[in-house]
Amino acid sequence: MATTTHILGYPRIGEKRELKFAQEKYWRGEINQAELKHVGATLRDKNWNIQSEAGLSFTTAGDFAWYDHVLATTLLLGHVPKRHATGFPDLDTLFTVGRGQSKADCGCSGAAASDMTKWFNTNYHYIVPEFSKDDTFEVSWPQLFEEVNEAVKAGHSVKPVLLGPLSYLYLGKEVEEGFDRLALLPRLLAAYQAILAKLASQGVEWVQIDEPILSLELEDKWADAFKLAYQVIRCDIKVLLTTYFDSVSDTLDKIVGLSVDGLHVDLSAAPEQLEEVVEKLPDDWVLSAGVVNGRNVWRSDLSEQLLRLQPVKERLGDKLWIATSCSLLHSPVDLDLEPALSEEVRSWFAFAKQKVSEVALLGRALDGDKNAILACDTYSQPIKDRKTATHVNKPQVQSRLNSISASLAQRSAPYLERAVHQAEVLDLPLLPTTTIGSFPQTGEIRVQRNAFRNGQLSEADYKQALKGHIADAVKRQEALDLDVLVHGEAERNDMVEYFAENLDGFQTTKFGWVQSYGSRCVKPAIVVADIEREKPITVEWSTYAQSLTRKKMKGMLTGPVTILCWTFPREDISRKQIAQQLALALRDEVTDLQSAGINIIQIDEPAIREGLPLKKRDHDEYLKWAVDAFKISAAGARSETQIHTHMCYSEFNEIIDSVAALDADVITIETSRSNMELLKAFEDFNYPNEIGPGVYDIHSPNIPTEAWIESLIKKAAEKIPPQRLWVNPDCGLKTRNWAETEAALSNLVSATKKLRAELDL
Ligand code: GLN
Ligand code: ZN
Repeated sequence: MATTTHILGYPRIGEKRELKFAQEKYWRGEINQAELKHVGATLRDKNWNIQSEAGLSFTTAGDFAWYDHVLATTLLLGHVPKRHATGFPDLDTLFTVGRGQSKADCGCSGAAASDMTKWFNTNYHYIVPEFSKDDTFEVSWPQLFEEVNEAVKAGHSVKPVLLGPLSYLYLGKEVEEGFDRLALLPRLLAAYQAILAKLASQGVEWVQIDEPILSLELEDKWADAFKLAYQVIRCDIKVLLTTYFDSVSDTLDKIVGLSVDGLHVDLSAAPEQLEEVVEKLPDDWVLSAGVVNGRNVWRSDLSEQLLRLQPVKERLGDKLWIATSCSLLHSPVDLDLEPALSEEVRSWFAFAKQKVSEVALLGRALDGDKNAILACDTYSQPIKDRKTATHVNKPQVQSRLNSISASLAQRSAPYLERAVHQAEVLDLPLLPTTTIGSFPQTGEIRVQRNAFRNGQLSEADYKQALKGHIADAVKRQEALDLDVLVHGEAERNDMVEYFAENLDGFQTTKFGWVQSYGSRCVKPAIVVADIEREKPITVEWSTYAQSLTRKKMKGMLTGPVTILCWTFPREDISRKQIAQQLALALRDEVTDLQSAGINIIQIDEPAIREGLPLKKRDHDEYLKWAVDAFKISAAGARSETQIHTHMCYSEFNEIIDSVAALDADVITIETSRSNMELLKAFEDFNYPNEIGPGVYDIHSPNIPTEAWIESLIKKAAEKIPPQRLWVNPDCGLKTRNWAETEAALSNLVSATKKLRAELDL
């Protein structure tokens, strides 16, 4: 029998983000539900055909999801939060849980969306299941079963995927005090029994049950709960238990005692686990080897994989399956849509569609078709060519990297001394007011950028237009009487892509989109070579802005760790090395800004926490090089140059000492949504430098009142001495419009002035 091949899931967004556009049209009322569903069915059909035409043994169904697959599981289980439960759950219920419902929509008092959080250490966000003591589960939303039928009818050999019961529980949160959501497991399992029975009646032979939490350092009570759970849901269907994103080294001994029929492990994120897993695998199980990386864009070294897997094949025979490491949800869709890439660069990549072929090819090669790999054009070239190319590995970058010493990361003086110098040079009032960087990205800016990109607007005209937006932003900030101004980032479509486009060593794509949350997609650039800054990137914009005002203009950079976290990294060098290269390039930008007369420079690091490895024991190592990378980028600043950093979107309590270790002179941080709760960590830790806790939640369309902002600043002042306190919104304002922005900032400035007067007394 041939080697079984499959993928854990395919991107659902469509090669040109068809799903995004259809969902958004539906939300705006421009298409009806039948039309929306038709788009979904077309996408699924296409995705399934790609898998069967490539020759995979199974076609995966159930990976398609409207909005989010965890949310789809919530509906499947009939577990809709009470505030959204109005009768039998349907597609509209799903969107409401994901997006919330305003008063106008429902004619009621409105209902908040469920929380959203990051899916492990990826950039995908899922809707957090909410658990209360009396929750019940009942198979409700038939989407999964309908999809399975659809795929069976279309002639595919279907393997449905389900999020496992323990991961579903673990990834949610209690919304009621005094109970443990694990207590809901028995009720939840009854629903899973019903799901599996239904799938069995549809003729399904194998089901993929995702339990990614098995790759964590799982607490015993969770790890121990698996045994009974999988006994309870055992039925005629064979279960492939899937894990991904890290090794199962902490849970393997328990996994092998479960009532399942096979295990999938991620050999891309954790190749080292192969031997142990093969060793301990029960005799009658299959091993699904996740060797084709589902999270990056590089083509696999299939010859190398073949060598590595051949002995396993000899040992396991037909029980060895070949797969992607995780779902291809995290990978761009189709490399064939990138005609602008050079032949050479294209030969380095494989996107989702190409990865499907890689899995199939490797399966054939393992079955003895030795020529399968070499007969394929793309794979006939050894991958070593790329690794040794001199335009990839640049001696000048490497010699700079080699010269990195501890002192390169040290500012010239300790914070207290710097603060004195900065106070002299900057002459700022008590409670200085500022913003986080971006101002509204108006329709006009977007039209101009597109015209420039399409060649309809000359570079000179585009620059002129941008200068107009900068001048406008400066004028408005002066009128608001803010203390530290920004140029507004009109030239940036995205805080990372902009730097990727302007640094040497990155490749950007046209359609390399990946789902981030709901209908939102991101298009990460790809690190393809050693990174170098050929010329200053932001200096022209910042100095132009500074020339328009006597107030201080803050330069604005994206930090090395955030650029790294939000791009596809190289795999032939370490993440640490990439971060160091970025740090050196940004360091040059910092010193150039400083030489051009910019005295305040912000280096944004909103993603620093996201880069944390899944296992706690690996945290310290990451934090050490991540902090160092930031410090290297900042430490070229003279003592009197004030370095700011900015963080948002995560809880920083856990890494507060690393945040402090960045030694930024000022940190602006998102706290307004949690009502300043985050500041407690800064207080307990006795954070030594200056802090600007966000007092305006820019994600909400509501304009904060002066009184509200005042109350937040007062709260902050209880924890941080006013001498070290800044006043600012909690993130950039690019998604807001000018009317909201000016109204909110005007309240922010007047609240500050009022408090300043009180404090002066
Ligand atoms: N400077 C960026 C902005 O204002 C920061 C964005 C972010 O933190 N995500 O848009
Ligand atoms: Zn932010």
